[in-house]
Amino acid sequence: MGEHVRKLRVGVIDLVHKAPTKALYARVMHANLAAIMPQAVAAWCQELGHQVEFVCYTGLENLARELPQNCDLVFFCGFTEAAQLAYALSNLLRSQGAVTALGGPHARCYPEDAQQYFDYVLGFTSRPLIQDVLQDCAQHRPLGLHISAQGHPATLPSLEQRWPFVEHALRKAPILKLVPMIGSLGCPYTCPFCIDSTVPYQPFSFETLKSDLRFLSSRMAKPRVGWHDPNFGVRFDDYLDAIEDAVPPGSIEFAAESSLALLTEPHVKRMQRNGFKALLPGVESWYDMGQKSRCGGRQAEDRVKHVSEQINMIMRHVPYVQANFVLGLDSDEGAEPFELTKKFIDLTPGVFPGYSLLTAFGRAAPLNLELQLSNRVIPFPFHFLDNNHAMNVQPLNYEWSEFYDRVIDLSAYTFSWRTMGRRLKASRDSLPRWLNLVRGVSSEGRGRLAQFRNLRRRLDTDQDLRAFLERETEQTPGYYTEIVRRDLGALWKWLPEGALQHDPQAYLKASRLGDPSVATRVVDAMPREGLAGAGS
Ligand code: SF4
Repeated sequence: MGEHVRKLRVGVIDLVHKAPTKALYARVMHANLAAIMPQAVAAWCQELGHQVEFVCYTGLENLARELPQNCDLVFFCGFTEAAQLAYALSNLLRSQGAVTALGGPHARCYPEDAQQYFDYVLGFTSRPLIQDVLQDCAQHRPLGLHISAQGHPATLPSLEQRWPFVEHALRKAPILKLVPMIGSLGCPYTCPFCIDSTVPYQPFSFETLKSDLRFLSSRMAKPRVGWHDPNFGVRFDDYLDAIEDAVPPGSIEFAAESSLALLTEPHVKRMQRNGFKALLPGVESWYDMGQKSRCGGRQAEDRVKHVSEQINMIMRHVPYVQANFVLGLDSDEGAEPFELTKKFIDLTPGVFPGYSLLTAFGRAAPLNLELQLSNRVIPFPFHFLDNNHAMNVQPLNYEWSEFYDRVIDLSAYTFSWRTMGRRLKASRDSLPRWLNLVRGVSSEGRGRLAQFRNLRRRLDTDQDLRAFLERETEQTPGYYTEIVRRDLGALWKWLPEGALQHDPQAYLKASRLGDPSVATRVVDAMPREGLAGAGS
């Protein structure tokens, strides 16, 4: 690093959502979905002496008014569903002279695609990597630099350092305010569809965790924390010891995603004592996903009963539980998996079931290589890859019409007034009741059902859509193009040529080449003249 640091104007944009929305669920929850890494990047940039403008976009703001102005460098972070928005914004800001960088899940899943629209595409992101980018801060066009640290960072900025950016997001949360915190990265389990299955489990320092919790207690009267750990409680006792040591039991309320294996009754009781109010375990499937052949029937029915008993046990101690399922896995066939989930809902009336359609997000998960190899990945525009609007994998055991009929039937059952009434009655506390109702009637429940029905009707009438889903053409159906055009509004004209399409085989091709595109530092990736320009 040179002696003199040029003070830059840096923008950091957390794209929590992909388009303007007025949905009730968005008003209540989107600000609570703010990510930690953009806040960390903003804190690192400040620490390194730069001026930072931070924006958390939840879909409720006027983006044109909130966009950082006159920046030298703008970092974006977002999921794949926000990619087209990010590409258009990057193009706009580049036209105004800014250098742009993309990090977060989309950058990790589709780096080759993002390289066309950003000067830097970041894999694992650490403070030295951000420092490299700030020091280089140069245009890399037409193809951006794809750089990555060796792994996730060993430490993150403290909550106190992130606090201005946390507050920025929470000001937009009208009722429920969740402070994002994280105590670990990666996961020791190996679910083949999961982005964290290939990242080694790594806890952060428990001492930092304690001081973060103490800091939070000094800032808010009755704080609520959303743990962003991919799988909370892997080192359960260490984690809970740290919480108990830092703050009086129940003085902070917590929500966390945890695998069922960790949620034994003694663990859940200890969580209850410590203020855990919401848990989101993954059930994923009634079948063993690791096995090629399905062991259905009795074994799956037993699993429904067993999981239902466990979740009813959890709900005796923790008022809000969402159980997550993936629909369309290769292990699913016929009516059985859907009927088993309905049975589970009957046996577990208080639970909120969260459904995701199987989606292959580029290089997110090992399973995707296999899916690309068998040519089953459909190049849906990224805008629709949010686990719900589109399933970009041809199902192994279903025709599309049958698959969506079954998804509609299950969704209609889950969000019928009768089932929602039972869900409300089974909840003890008022906040979970209210949240269940909002989620059920808003964009997530009945809203999504309407969207599935619309798609199902189109399957019978829209030949372009059929051909696209059957992999007979890679031409994006006009129906989808129109939705992106509508959602991007005034930004549509900034969406670069070709940015609606992507190569659905990019991961497979990169793996065959031994993936030479990833450099671990900017200086390794830059051409010589770039180095000279950066003044190193
Ligand atoms: S789905 Fe959950 S348990 Fe499985 S690898 Fe991912 S984080 Fe771990």
